[in-house]
Amino acid sequence: MSIKTRFAPSPTGYLHVGGARTALFSWLHARKHGGRFVLRIEDTDLERSNAESVNAILEGMTWLGLEYDEGPFYQTHRFERYEEIVQQLLAEGHAYRCNCSKERLEELREGQMARKEKPRYDGHCREHYVDPDEPHVIRFRNPHEGSVVFDDLVRGRLAFSNDELDDLIIKRTDGSPTYNLSVVVDDLDMGITQVIRGDDHINNTPRQINILKALGAELPQYAHVPMILGDDGARLSKRHGAVSVMQYRDQGLLPEALLNYLVRLGWSHGDQEIFSLDEMIELFDIGNVNKAASSFNTEKLLWINQHYIKEGDPARVAHLLSVHMGDLGIDPALGPDLVEVVKVQRERAKTLVELAEVCAFFYKDFDEYNANSMKKAFTEAAIAPLERARALLSGLDEWQPEAIKRVLDEVVAELEIGFGKLGMPLRLAVTGGAPSPDLDVTLQLVGQEASLRRIDRALETIRGLL
Ligand code: GLU
Repeated sequence: MSIKTRFAPSPTGYLHVGGARTALFSWLHARKHGGRFVLRIEDTDLERSNAESVNAILEGMTWLGLEYDEGPFYQTHRFERYEEIVQQLLAEGHAYRCNCSKERLEELREGQMARKEKPRYDGHCREHYVDPDEPHVIRFRNPHEGSVVFDDLVRGRLAFSNDELDDLIIKRTDGSPTYNLSVVVDDLDMGITQVIRGDDHINNTPRQINILKALGAELPQYAHVPMILGDDGARLSKRHGAVSVMQYRDQGLLPEALLNYLVRLGWSHGDQEIFSLDEMIELFDIGNVNKAASSFNTEKLLWINQHYIKEGDPARVAHLLSVHMGDLGIDPALGPDLVEVVKVQRERAKTLVELAEVCAFFYKDFDEYNANSMKKAFTEAAIAPLERARALLSGLDEWQPEAIKRVLDEVVAELEIGFGKLGMPLRLAVTGGAPSPDLDVTLQLVGQEASLRRIDRALETIRGLL
């Protein structure tokens, strides 16, 4: 049978890193085996689901590049199908109507708690006739005997005794299907071969297996992925900083860096830290995912991000960077080629937000000079070299690093000064004090007109200071 996996988020918030990692593992498993990957939106909880969350999930998946082959399927579009299965289970005696009152269930629960028993439904309506026209729920008739045993691809063999499981509700009084029913029907109809999901669902699995068995279905394999903890050992949450995938984009992460970081959370291949997508697909094995929870480490994520900024295809980095340039009010089309700017500045940033900041001066006049550099560089002694450089630079027909360098060397030779006497004030004049590459390259990228304008501004500033 060909492999098919799915990612089945409930749209009750943004796509968080835990969900993204589960999606990645599922996606990798499908890609590795030449299978298909399904996106399913589990929106049956009408009160908590909303369209914004659906959009946030789709946006997150798209940004990460986790493209799906089928879907998105929406559970709310499949109610008729769930109803069909509920009726089938009823007709075959695998389910029954229950009209136990809230009070009765509450009393039952209290009694069990008082006796220190696990709260569970006692099967009161199993053998009762319940009028279908009266308000009722439908429960699955869980077997009493035996146990459910399955080989989890991550956890190994797991066994649950059936007498631990009660008769779960599969259809609520309002007619809506419950999570365990809709998941089972979908996994079955969609032909899912490996259910890869968070281990918070592990206790649902034996219930789902029992329903699948009642339907005579072939069982998928299960892989329960451990959760992600914050660096303090508590479950990762907003309190630890960003948890939404899109927030990481806004903070200047590259999707490939986040994917690379996430794949390493709970999975490894020797000491290797950096994995291209192709390598991940080749090397990832769901069977090698750790059982234990992993801790999120922002430092390491930034280290990986920096790696992709420094080593990635500059055109790709520039493409992703342009959004962040836009955030600074810069249209990179109206200035030097962003790819060239990336090549000279990418050593200086851990995030695309930082990279945008160090690239900004190539496109836009800065507001003010770095105060410390100003004290050192903008002195009376800077006037003559700057003036001479301006005169020679304005006469240059060819605005290329070699020609610019020749001019600068000529100025220092002519004035018999060390290069720093020109270099320091000129660099400050043109960059405002931002980290920058060699002066000839900096000037070339800033452009002749802007460079001359900035030298004039510096001369004016220096004169104002005297
Ligand atoms: N909708 C569930 C969730 O978001 C996942 C269910 C599943 O993967 O089986 O937690």
